[in-house]
Amino acid sequence: MRISRLLRRLRSDFQLSIITLMGLFGVIGVTPYAVYRLTTGNYLVGSADTVIVVSTVLAVLYAWRTGDTIKPGIYLATIFSAGSTLIAINLGVNGLFWIYPLILFNFFMVSPGKALLATLLVLVSLVAYGQHNPGAVFESDYQMVSFLVTSMMASVLSFVFAYRTTSQRDQLQQLAIHDPLTGARNRRAMNEELKIAASSHRRHGNSYAVLTMDLDHFKRVNDNYGHQAGDQVLVDFVELIKNSSRKEDRLFRFGGEEFLLLLPNTDRVGLLAAAQQLQQQVAHNLRSPGGAVTMSVGGAILRRDEHWEDMLERADQRLYRAKSAGRNCVVIADEVDSTNGVPTA
Ligand code: GH3
Ligand code: MG
Ligand code: MG
Repeated sequence: MRISRLLRRLRSDFQLSIITLMGLFGVIGVTPYAVYRLTTGNYLVGSADTVIVVSTVLAVLYAWRTGDTIKPGIYLATIFSAGSTLIAINLGVNGLFWIYPLILFNFFMVSPGKALLATLLVLVSLVAYGQHNPGAVFESDYQMVSFLVTSMMASVLSFVFAYRTTSQRDQLQQLAIHDPLTGARNRRAMNEELKIAASSHRRHGNSYAVLTMDLDHFKRVNDNYGHQAGDQVLVDFVELIKNSSRKEDRLFRFGGEEFLLLLPNTDRVGLLAAAQQLQQQVAHNLRSPGGAVTMSVGGAILRRDEHWEDMLERADQRLYRAKSAGRNCVVIADEVDSTNGVPTA
């Protein structure tokens, strides 16, 4: 049971699995050297090896406990880079072989830019030390140049590969959480963010509210002017809402012409004001080829210990009430707050 949970975490968190794998490599690969150096009296390298092993174990444990893989990644890349440099300076050519796996290690641990910087620092340190102490690191200038050229090649190729992988991952993440037509976040992202909002409300008492917005008689736009005209209205709608809401508010498209705005730190008065302002903006500025397009809005504030789906359900019921009350209006509490922009309750 416990093992299967660990395996599931490893499968779902790539960065954690890489840190664990590299941690295992580090411990299994370096421990015998640490023991050997310490028993043969090479205390400097032996201590560096020991520090590498111990800090690897600590960093992996930290990543497992906190779920944060960025800090342990930076920490491990720093320790491994410094340790390998020390070892190469101390052992000369025999230590230089470790620089090649170090380069790969850095690119697995931290962002491509940081990994390139760490690697360059290692190479510059080795060359600078080698220049000041002829024969200590490199046996000849020829060997130094060969080392520099091959390690730079390994670094640049690793950088290109890591950069491409990172940008492809970012692109995939973008595609997975955004609606391709309007660029608004999709339903999958909405569920995730509402879950996070509910747990932040439970743990820290942060307040959250939602507005569900549905365009009025949208089918007519499609029927009368075609699907493409309808699509353009949806794109314009998202642009308009984004420009009319606060930076911290999140817009999601969770159905065809149904949208949700998640508003953090918003009380009932603020929510009503925001809803009315958005409704006015849409009524005045959203156009189809046939003229103005309006929307109906339902709103709810997350209650204490309420499941986010229940809040959504309440907002939806109010949206339904706004439709029944004649559309182009806002319902936040149980009464209709405005019809055609004119407050009625
Ligand atoms: P109501 O005021 O009651 O909301 O009326 P309505 O016509 O807007 O409501 P309904 O939910 O019946 O129709 C929604 C329409 O939205 C149906 C569908 O043709 C249209 N729609 C859904 N997704 C898209 C889309 O991606 N592009 C376009 N152009 N139309 C869409
Ligand atoms: Mg509609
Ligand atoms: Mg609808």
